[in-house]
Amino acid sequence: MPDPNSPSDFEPSVIPIEPSNLQTFKPVLPIPEHLVGEIQSKLAYVDEAIARAIVPASGDQISLVLHEPVDAARQAELEVKVQRVVASMVKGSIKPKVQVLEDYLDRRVAYKLDPMDELLARGEISQETTGVFSLGPLVTGLIGYFEGRFLELAASFGAVAYRFPTLIPARYLERVGYFRAFPHSLSFVTHLREDLDVIDDFSQHAACDDHGALVGQVSYLPSVSETSFANIQTLLSPAVCYHLYFTLADKPLPGGKVVATAVGNCFRYEAINLVSLERLWNFTMREIIFVGPKDFVLENREIARQRMAKVLEEIGMAYRVESANDPFFIGEFRKQVAFQSAFQLKFEIRARLPFKDSTLAVGSYNYHQDFFGRNLAISLSDGSPAHTGCVAFGLERIAFAFLAQFGLEPENWPTAVRTAIYPV
Ligand code: AMP
Ligand code: ZN
Repeated sequence: MPDPNSPSDFEPSVIPIEPSNLQTFKPVLPIPEHLVGEIQSKLAYVDEAIARAIVPASGDQISLVLHEPVDAARQAELEVKVQRVVASMVKGSIKPKVQVLEDYLDRRVAYKLDPMDELLARGEISQETTGVFSLGPLVTGLIGYFEGRFLELAASFGAVAYRFPTLIPARYLERVGYFRAFPHSLSFVTHLREDLDVIDDFSQHAACDDHGALVGQVSYLPSVSETSFANIQTLLSPAVCYHLYFTLADKPLPGGKVVATAVGNCFRYEAINLVSLERLWNFTMREIIFVGPKDFVLENREIARQRMAKVLEEIGMAYRVESANDPFFIGEFRKQVAFQSAFQLKFEIRARLPFKDSTLAVGSYNYHQDFFGRNLAISLSDGSPAHTGCVAFGLERIAFAFLAQFGLEPENWPTAVRTAIYPV
């Protein structure tokens, strides 16, 4: 069975390895096994020259596959940057104790292949750009099924429904320390400045280069440049529940407790780690969100886990629920991970991917203590800050894991799922 903190989430796409574009060296400190996947995923953000980073499970070597060969000075520069990541993440790191709350990884599942190839071949999904996919009827039907189950779960708590925007103001994210914790995955939104000359220039010269990047190069004319764009005040939202916390900010919590649910587009830029439906730049999350006193939030997170276990049993999915951490950036990583682990703040549903004998997080059970309550001044009746927690499901991921376990033919699917989507 796969290693609990499997690095397999971060297997990048296959790039041909030539001796001339391969750079291999020893890490400044040996990388402990529990950090191999985390460090490999962070190497994606080290330098644009890196097409793929490989850290073996032994953690005693780092290989960089580069887009093209570079000279010795540039190699030295890349190594220094990589070693900075290693030193920052390894020094003083303590292996978090992995707590397993449910283990059904060995449930028998019928399928063994990577569904990606078949989904693409049948036109059931199509890639628009890196990490951005359109989903056809098969995956859409499955997501609809899972959404139905999540809505039942939400209704069992009397959750009220919200709809949140896809954009989120920069000042919201600043207020909850997002820039410090997850700068690497931010997606920014801007528009042309309100200036007739800038807009005219853009309309005449904007075009995409060979890589799909927007350029406006016309030799002697002004080009589409950073100065054409307005200051960034808005980003693409990285999570759903933040929006609820902001609607509740700076006032007493109505009725002392809130349970809400919403689905929304979320964006996390994951560079060369963006492969297949497993890791998307633009994905959809369904959340059930609890706001109130500590016990209320913790009890409901636990009840949600138990109710969800029944759903996953009925479907027959192979999975495990275990403690986890968020993908904090290197400077914050060690401290935040130790904190999340010590206070059991995050558990993930990791579904089995038989084709690579590994697991994929399809959902999470989160408790934020009074972090949002304090930072956003959401107060309980006694004036203390509210506690928050959320149960979050990745819709594309749960559909992908289901297809990896049961294949693309509905007649091979568990009856509960097949008859719900395709009633006879
Ligand atoms: P998190 O808030 O990080 O626990 O995310 C909740 C769920 O969203 C995860 O368990 C995944 O199922 C899904 N998710 C997170 N990041 C991605 C991504 N880059 N691509 C697809 N799904 C994701
Ligand atoms: Zn959340």
